[in-house]
Amino acid sequence: LQRRLRQSDRLESLGQLAAGVAHDFNNLLGIINGYAGMAAADLEPVAAADPAWRTLHADLTEIVAAGDRATALTRQLLAFARADPAPETRTLDLNTVVTDLDTLLRRALGEDITLTTHLTAQPWPIRADPGRLEQVLVNLVVNARDAMPGGGTLSIETAPVTVDEHYAAQHPGVRTGRYMQLRVSDTGTGMNKATLERAFEPFFTTKPKGHGTGLGLATIYGIITQAGGHAQIYSELGHGTTITALLPATDDLAEPDTAPAEHPRSGAG
Ligand code: ADP
Repeated sequence: LQRRLRQSDRLESLGQLAAGVAHDFNNLLGIINGYAGMAAADLEPVAAADPAWRTLHADLTEIVAAGDRATALTRQLLAFARADPAPETRTLDLNTVVTDLDTLLRRALGEDITLTTHLTAQPWPIRADPGRLEQVLVNLVVNARDAMPGGGTLSIETAPVTVDEHYAAQHPGVRTGRYMQLRVSDTGTGMNKATLERAFEPFFTTKPKGHGTGLGLATIYGIITQAGGHAQIYSELGHGTTITALLPATDDLAEPDTAPAEHPRSGAG
């Protein structure tokens, strides 16, 4: 529990720091990218004719490319920082969130990764911010894609889950009650123990410089926790990773005896 508390403290202070810096930084980046882009465009005709200008044009193009990467990183930082203020909570069907993103997710995954979805026929409504849930899915899918450079299978499942005393005892911090579970599994590289332990930490990344912010999973953790839910990682090095998110079902649920009794599967990790 103490580790969990420390984690949420860290999330909060880093979130505030990120919010303060990212906004101003993004504006300055916009100016740098804008001028570098204009200069590159202005040089285009002379660069085509003269090798001396061509080098300068190539340098400016590099600046623009790095600027674009920096913009993408700050955008992620801002999204992370924004996970703090009040979410726009609505009553939602988790299945709809998944199906609405289907085309986008398939495009993000490319041709070498097969996407399979198993959506429960009897979803319980949940209360959450739809935009943030989309962000959770996109972040999970992008991570899974990065973990399967040689292709593989990504599976997205939804299931109604009742957390009973037994399950709660095995998963410290998870309260009893009814939830919708989102489960995203990949057949990728998996995580070693050190990565698994720190994966939810903001700014923790194993990706090469300029490719990862280490904010993807921290953002997911923040969004799910803020929605009153629980996020968990199961990973086996060389085999793949499963990330589950439990989102509390709303009070206006189906009668317990008509609801499907499905048990959450647990895994190593
Ligand atoms: P980033 O993707 O920017 O590195 P994240 O917070 O999303 O930041 O992930 C942190 C680290 O967790 C990644 O650098 C990677 O080592 C590991 N990771 C996340 N998702 C997966 C996955 N599906 N499979 C294997 N490793 C993963």
